[in-house]
Amino acid sequence: MSNKFDPQAALADTRHEFGEHGGVNLSIEASTTFTVMAAETMPELFSGRVGPEGGCYLYGRHFNPTVYALGKQLAAIENTEAGYATASGMGAIAAALMQVCNAGDHIVSGNTIYGGTFALLNSYLPAKAGVTSAFVDVTDHASVAAAFTDKTRVLYVESIANPTLDVADIPALAKIAHDRGAVLIVDNTFSPMLLSPANLGADIVVHSLTKFINGASDIIAGGVCGTQEFIGSLMDLQLGSLMLLGSTMDARTAFNISMRVPHLGLRVTEHSRRAQVFAERLLERGESVVYPGLAGHPQHALLGSMINEGYGYGGVFGLDLGTAERADRFMNTLQNELGFGYMAVSLGYFDTLMSCSGQTTSSELSEEERREAGIAPGLVRISIGYTGSVEQRWGQMVTALDRL
Ligand SMILES: *Cc1c(COP(=O)(O)O)cnc(C)c1O
Repeated sequence: MSNKFDPQAALADTRHEFGEHGGVNLSIEASTTFTVMAAETMPELFSGRVGPEGGCYLYGRHFNPTVYALGKQLAAIENTEAGYATASGMGAIAAALMQVCNAGDHIVSGNTIYGGTFALLNSYLPAKAGVTSAFVDVTDHASVAAAFTDKTRVLYVESIANPTLDVADIPALAKIAHDRGAVLIVDNTFSPMLLSPANLGADIVVHSLTKFINGASDIIAGGVCGTQEFIGSLMDLQLGSLMLLGSTMDARTAFNISMRVPHLGLRVTEHSRRAQVFAERLLERGESVVYPGLAGHPQHALLGSMINEGYGYGGVFGLDLGTAERADRFMNTLQNELGFGYMAVSLGYFDTLMSCSGQTTSSELSEEERREAGIAPGLVRISIGYTGSVEQRWGQMVTALDRL
């Protein structure tokens, strides 16, 4: 079964590159252009007959060895043939969608997705490329299937949706897409290591590396994982969406992130362990808490059937405090009086980040769209960090709740 896959083991099996002088870390290939030893090689490079797999590089926006090495790490943890890193998560998402879709094509998308992705699908792509989208509740498979047209090329979902934490049934959604000649693209930003969508039927996996994978809130970056053919097509000199729209990652950035991938598994495990403790204790207190690791979450069993063992149910939970005012008071107390966490968007940081989703990352949605997507006005999204001790942090959270 798919959940016997261990991304940490797959990462170790991916042969690590030595640095240029035998260094234990890979080298930063800080060159934008690459020499050939024979003039005849140049046309071979341009035609794609030789490329990075053969150790031949052309130009840094095309492929760079350090960025390529990070792509291999991403492909290892996602168990795909290939992967490549991009300048941002949005760069990865936009390139993947533009690569699969042509003008006039159609996308079926989850309705609880990252605000930037929603704006891309709802506003940008229709205006700029004539690619339209229908937004559906991905937990309602009948409405997902009903939203397909003969122009639908992509079913787009987030593995664990932002910010509602609805879990996508990836095998069922892959079947719906494949039966209708479409590909399933999964944004796995919320669940690296713990979920490997490609093992469950996804064709393309996209990431914002800005979150858990980098883990330090100091770098904006993204990644795309898929078949060798698909990743190659992104770099096509005529029609490659990464090559031509140019959301290239810098080699220094790739090096920095690649140094953090080896401990991603440890970090995700600890984020999940703490999220589970907090969610259970909040539930015991009678709070309205949403976390897929809780038995009462509607897709708890589903996620349990899909996850790789040992990495928990993820590091993000939702706490609905009823009104935006109460949410604001809670966050102000935690950050400014108790020194626990930051009022900031994003997630996957080593410290705790909290934001009121309706006012921030989902503000691209109208009030009605937010209501339909189940984003309550008092919902605080908490990405739990691992600084401090669990008991110290829990005590602070209780104090903030008691003061409401
Ligand atoms: C942050 C985020 C993105 C966008 O990533 P950037 O790196 O900021 O471009 C996309 N999807 C999800 C689920 C995210 O959380």
